[in-house]
Amino acid sequence: MLYCARCGLRYPVNIGVWRCICQGELEYDNPHEIVVPDLNDLIPRPCSIWRYREALPALEDEYIITFNEGYTPIITIKYHDIPIWLKLDFLCPTGSYKDRGTSVMISCLKQTGIKSVVEDSSGNAGASIAAYAGRAGMKCTVFVPSDTSPGKLIQIRAYGATIEMVDGTRQDVAKACQEAAEGNHNGETFYASHNWNPFFLEGIKTLAYEIWEQGVRNSIMPNWVVIPAGYGSCVLGAYRGFSDLVNQGKLHEIPRLIVVQAKNCAPVYEAYLRGGTEVLPIHGQRTIAEGIACSNPVRGSEILHAVRASGGVVMAVAEKEIECAAIELAKDGVFVEPTSAVVVAALKRLIDNEVISGNDIALGILTGTGLKATDYYGSRL
Ligand SMILES: *Cc1c(COP(=O)(O)O)cnc(C)c1O
Ligand SMILES: [Zn+2]
Repeated sequence: MLYCARCGLRYPVNIGVWRCICQGELEYDNPHEIVVPDLNDLIPRPCSIWRYREALPALEDEYIITFNEGYTPIITIKYHDIPIWLKLDFLCPTGSYKDRGTSVMISCLKQTGIKSVVEDSSGNAGASIAAYAGRAGMKCTVFVPSDTSPGKLIQIRAYGATIEMVDGTRQDVAKACQEAAEGNHNGETFYASHNWNPFFLEGIKTLAYEIWEQGVRNSIMPNWVVIPAGYGSCVLGAYRGFSDLVNQGKLHEIPRLIVVQAKNCAPVYEAYLRGGTEVLPIHGQRTIAEGIACSNPVRGSEILHAVRASGGVVMAVAEKEIECAAIELAKDGVFVEPTSAVVVAALKRLIDNEVISGNDIALGILTGTGLKATDYYGSRL
């Protein structure tokens, strides 16, 4: 069943609604108990998110759409002689961590009989959904802002999806997409929004399971986890996944979550500074961290709750800091899009301010590959 996070109204999963009639966001109520397998039982499993299958939504084998995403490596780099751990999640099949969520979401939609999906995206989610919908044999249309990076548009088209360019803000793009889905009344075209769909978040939870598995096996379980946030899927997926592990007694406590936004577009940061429990919409400015440019996140209150419950903080980094971090990371052999570099910009500041020291294990999640941002690097090198 699905239920509304605001009013509690319940919906069957196959009814094709993307939000509640009260406009609240829907959550997934797993009929099975969520179980993350023990470390020993995990050894022979496939090296993908599906190794944690008992913790994912119930799916028949034939509906699972996967490219063996996940199980990404962790490396270290040094900053002022202090190690920083980095999870290379941009090594997922379409070049961003979104594949974790997309694999679960498209599989669930396939199981409920959806034949065609529409999605709005500033790029990476669009590319991910185009690839998985293609593998599932679903028709796919992606609505994008007209200033999206050329590399991302080409990737979406190459996977066989249709692109609709929309002038205006990110919100205008979402609205055009929602209207397209609602104008279709045969119930087969679904608004498969990574920002609204609860199955997407179920898949992102595997990030936390992996950090736990790799962390405990290699004695590098982080006490800080640094995550970029726009709509907050990466933060919420990680928080919910770590919470599962704590609830099952597999982890003592949730690592402190450091949520990072671009200063130019930072509604969560502003709410956090105010001490608020709700994120209010802002008028964001352009940022090179295009993947997290969101002025009004769907689950804003839950992001604030996740940060505070974990003992973490929200940070905002300036364009200059993002740019330096991106270029220096590339010099270390780690080529990510500027959006991902916000994490390293934040880590550097935390080390400079002696919040993080050599006694800590601080892990940043690198979400998107630099190969999609060659136009950005091309103009700066
Ligand atoms: C989507 C994305 C994010 C953040 O996702 P939100 O759910 O909007 O917080 C971070 N980095 C990259 C590269 C992304 O594509
Ligand atoms: Zn509701």
